[in-house]
Amino acid sequence: MEEVSQLEFNEISMEKTNLKSIVLGGGISGKAAFGLLTRLGESPILVDAKDPQGILDSEEEATKILLCENIKTIVKSPGISPSHPWLVLARERGIPIQSEIDLARSKFFNKIIGITGTDGKSTTTALTHHLCLLDFPKAQLGGNIGRAFSEFADKDIPVAVLELSSYQLEDSLPLDLDASAILNLASDHLERHGSMQKYAIAKRRIIQESNPQHIFVSKRETIFNLELKLEDLKCQVKLFGDDPGADAIIEAEQLRIRTKIANYSIQNFSLEGYHNLENLAASILLAESLGIQATNIQTQIESFQGLAHRFEKFMRSFGWTFVNDSKSTNVHSLMAWLKNFNPSSSNLILLMGGRSKSEDMTSVVTTLMNIPCHIYIFGEARVHWRKEFNILRDKVSFVEGMEEALVSIKSIWTKTKQENTWVVLSPACASFDQFKNFEERGKHFKDLSQILFSAVE
Ligand code: ADP
Repeated sequence: MEEVSQLEFNEISMEKTNLKSIVLGGGISGKAAFGLLTRLGESPILVDAKDPQGILDSEEEATKILLCENIKTIVKSPGISPSHPWLVLARERGIPIQSEIDLARSKFFNKIIGITGTDGKSTTTALTHHLCLLDFPKAQLGGNIGRAFSEFADKDIPVAVLELSSYQLEDSLPLDLDASAILNLASDHLERHGSMQKYAIAKRRIIQESNPQHIFVSKRETIFNLELKLEDLKCQVKLFGDDPGADAIIEAEQLRIRTKIANYSIQNFSLEGYHNLENLAASILLAESLGIQATNIQTQIESFQGLAHRFEKFMRSFGWTFVNDSKSTNVHSLMAWLKNFNPSSSNLILLMGGRSKSEDMTSVVTTLMNIPCHIYIFGEARVHWRKEFNILRDKVSFVEGMEEALVSIKSIWTKTKQENTWVVLSPACASFDQFKNFEERGKHFKDLSQILFSAVE
């Protein structure tokens, strides 16, 4: 199908008001899209074998419905691959395909911010939303975090702050956002996108056909990795970084972030690590783009609490600090904190593993080589990473699961009682080999640690 703009798409849809929409996939966003279309007076068809309201997701049904019924559009859930048989047939038939985000976007008429990147999307989306709250108490957070956009696109919401994943962006129409951010680009989700180039193309869609008022926030390295040319962009680009030419200059030692509008103190900002200062600088530029007052931004910087499972310090016991970073599912997010870990003040016990994404582990191995630490590798990665970690064999234990690791850590604790030790779960892997998702993995780690270690106190 040739690409159509949002305007053309609305025109096609309006011409065909007596035709039906299909919602493909009955997960969170599919259900929300179905609900939105129903509230708008349509009778959409849900395709999802597991849902009692849905019809079977089979090639026979696809042929029957797409060839015989009058269909005006297919709304695709992000989990559905672009090569899904319904979508292939729809393209052949010239039936427009839109993402759940496109559908919601076409019904939302107030300010809208979209945030993407390989890592830091959820944190930055939650942070940006928090910075907006004093000026816009009814601002809503959603997309790939919290509620699907379609759940509230038709409601009276002044500002929508959306986390947008590459799956949501990969075949969306031009979204015409007021402001957006691409935080970073590193290797991830290549099993879905096929190559870094295709992954970058999906991310770049957040600014496709953006207008001259659009504020696009990023950093120089990301612009380079995305192969974007600043001079080709029609929107206004605002950069964050530690160089004096940036629009939000991160001055970590002076504990401040400087923009053209204000100097923000980061003394009472609760998140650790330079990467979180980058997330904050991006959020500040996005909040400023909405005209949020600097004093309100400052107040909100100081009251933001980080999200669970993102380098979450959840327990201290006899000088040992326990950290749950279960959302760290790739090398980039592990390295974000590991490269700044200070071995002179703390010992490190690192738990990593799960379903590996076949990434290059050289940076991790080299960094760990220079840190006094012990590493436990669990799950499928205990087989896949054996060769890569062989050089560190004196420091590594390959274990079945987290239980085995924590029981072993407890015996070290009982023997040494060494203070200033950090026990960090930062897997650099997907969780699906042993858990339903990263939340379940993080909860399991917290529960076990609490049972094994707080009882000792
Ligand atoms: P996402 O929604 O993109 O997965 P999250 O905010 O949930 O991002 O964080 C995922 C992981 O990435 C966590 O381990 C977190 O500590 C780490 N992280 C957060 N921000 C960044 C960043 N700017 N660069 C690298 N890693 C980051």
